Amino acid sequence: MNKYDLIIVGGGPAGSSAARVACERGIKTIILEKRSVIGIPRHCEGRLVATTGSKLTDEVIESMPPRVVLTKIRARRVFSPSGKLIREIPLSGTGARLILRDLFDLELARQAANAGAEIALNTRVTGLLKEDREILGVRTNSSTLTEIYGKVVICAGGLGALAGGIPKGCSERSPLGTDKCKRHRARCY
Ligand SMILES: Cc1cc2nc3c(=O)[nH]c(=O)nc-3n(C[C@H](O)[C@H](O)[C@H](O)COP(=O)(O)OP(=O)(O)OC[C@H]3O[C@@H](n4cnc5c(N)ncnc54)[C@H](O)[C@@H]3O)c2cc1C
Repeated sequence: MNKYDLIIVGGGPAGSSAARVACERGIKTIILEKRSVIGIPRHCEGRLVATTGSKLTDEVIESMPPRVVLTKIRARRVFSPSGKLIREIPLSGTGARLILRDLFDLELARQAANAGAEIALNTRVTGLLKEDREILGVRTNSSTLTEIYGKVVICAGGLGALAGGIPKGCSERSPLGTDKCKRHRARCY
């Protein structure tokens, strides 16, 4: 039987970061990603803003190989149609970085794998395995990992996953997908 302490649905930044941290604490973890390559297609244009007072973005950026970070952005500039600089608006905190988002996601997944996470690609989670109201794991479209059991399921499938209804039971109680679900041992992020 496929049994894990932690099942993570989605190999985006949230899923990979959670997996790395869990594995560093000795938690047996698997990431299930529906796509065949992590980070493709790019999930955004890659402007990463560091909020004032938070070291998190800096720490993540420092863990990246140089090719992932294209440049640092310190201000926004507004130009008139003739090309004249109208205004320069400095960014607060340590500013922002322009990153290659596909490589960024891939690197976070690599860090998770290096920490011990298993990653199953081409594996779309199609539903939750439940007994009464308890979540026991997930069901997938994979022929080799049809049912995966886990003590905890983290739903890190992004906005697309909410539209796809994973997990439907949780979204009833947390329509924005950001709350801890009171009924299940699953968290929606
Ligand atoms: C147009 C656009 C522009 C953006 N620009 C920026 C920006 O400049 N800077 C910024 O910081 N943020 C930006 N964002 C937001 C940013 O992309 C998200 O905040 C970020 O991707 C969220 O990360 P995540 O790991 O939660 O989800 P995602 O990055 O969406 O990753 C979710 C992963 O889960 C997988 N998945 C989904 N459902 C399933 C399933 N059922 N089974 C298995 N796998 C599944 C998906 O394939 C995906 O790989 C932008 C978003 C959009 C839409």
